[in-house]
Amino acid sequence: MRYDVAVIGGGPSGAVAAAELARAGVSTVLFERNFDNVKPCGGAIPLGLIEEFNIPAELVEKKLSRMRARSPKGRFIEMRMPNGYVGMVRREKFDSWLRSEAEKAGAVVVEGLVNAIQPSGNGFVISTLNNKVPPVEALRIIGADGANSKTADELHFPANELKVIAMQQRFKYTPAIRKFSDIVEIWFDGEVSPDFYGWIFPKADHLAIGTGTEDNKYNIKALQKRFIQKIGITDTPYLDEAAKIPMKPRKSFTAEKSILIGDAAGLVTPANGEGIFFAMRSGKLGARAMIEHLKKNAPLKNYEDEFRQLYAPIFFGLEVLQAVYYRNDRLRESFVAICADDDVQRITFDSYLYKKMVPAPWSTQMKIFSKNIYHLIKGR
Ligand SMILES: Cc1cc2nc3c(=O)[nH]c(=O)nc-3n(C[C@H](O)[C@H](O)[C@H](O)COP(=O)(O)OP(=O)(O)OC[C@H]3O[C@@H](n4cnc5c(N)ncnc54)[C@H](O)[C@@H]3O)c2cc1C
Repeated sequence: MRYDVAVIGGGPSGAVAAAELARAGVSTVLFERNFDNVKPCGGAIPLGLIEEFNIPAELVEKKLSRMRARSPKGRFIEMRMPNGYVGMVRREKFDSWLRSEAEKAGAVVVEGLVNAIQPSGNGFVISTLNNKVPPVEALRIIGADGANSKTADELHFPANELKVIAMQQRFKYTPAIRKFSDIVEIWFDGEVSPDFYGWIFPKADHLAIGTGTEDNKYNIKALQKRFIQKIGITDTPYLDEAAKIPMKPRKSFTAEKSILIGDAAGLVTPANGEGIFFAMRSGKLGARAMIEHLKKNAPLKNYEDEFRQLYAPIFFGLEVLQAVYYRNDRLRESFVAICADDDVQRITFDSYLYKKMVPAPWSTQMKIFSKNIYHLIKGR
């Protein structure tokens, strides 16, 4: 078979891209290695994403507008989102719904692990493991196959530089842990993560508890074990899961005839590890640039330029925040203290919910700046 575009990977980025392409009348094939894939993920998504992509209510298991941050010394700060909420989804259902939307739009969705991409004529030939799907020809490729992207390797993109390894365990609710069922809890604690954070995310019938750290630096299993002990949970998890999170965009994620989107491109924000929104947004922007490219010969690089223009300030700001405050427990203690400020909470949540840098009045900026300086000096 011959298609205009082959999208490799049927997670949020690939499914959104395939749907967008098919809706524009571009013949599209979407490869997913396993339709029953359970992507290890906290599944926390902002309200802006739910609205933009019309996520059906039944997929959003919880709508949480309260968040608690815990400092290394055990101080808790409670924060509120008056203008929205964090939605909790379960990835196995979420991804499968997104793929069904792509199929409804007209994309051909096939199950097979892509293991080779060869240049051929004006395009490529894509092969799958054991020829589960007979080789497919496509003029252009979108790599959406996650942090360890085979597409990126086959097409010689620059490396995905910074990877965090994250582990998560799922616990069915018991009376002992039900108290966590209606609030997001985040732990800033060097014993739980020396360079990231730990999370407790409530779902409909279970808690997802996890932590992350830079790959190959610390023992993620030992960190997770300590986290569970510190929370005081003695129940046994029904699922352990782990995966890498690429928290730095690749030096380049577009080529002449192919692009990378989502985790494959390294599009997860530092400090908070948020990737679902950027996966879906990059899927949409990438697909739109691909449509312009196929119809009007516009360069695919337009996609990367647009993504960087829109989101580079957010990536930069969060990189600085992580570099400054996640270095040691004194600084983490200061960070949690700053989170107690109402203006900090409002600005943080407004920009999280809709991914817009919300300008604050000068007086507020000066107040937050002074607090940062004070806490940084104290933290040192
Ligand atoms: C433990 C953990 C917790 C997280 N929590 C959150 C969170 O709460 N909120 C948030 O926003 N982000 C979170 N993230 C990040 C988020 O999961 C990712 O950023 C997001 O899944 C990226 O979507 P994607 O479609 O680009 O890639 P993926 O979701 O990784 O999808 C890639 C898809 O490609 C398929 N695939 C891979 N290789 C091939 C191949 N060779 N051929 C065919 N198919 C292939 C895979 O099966 C998969 O379905 C978390 C990550 C981890 C590891």
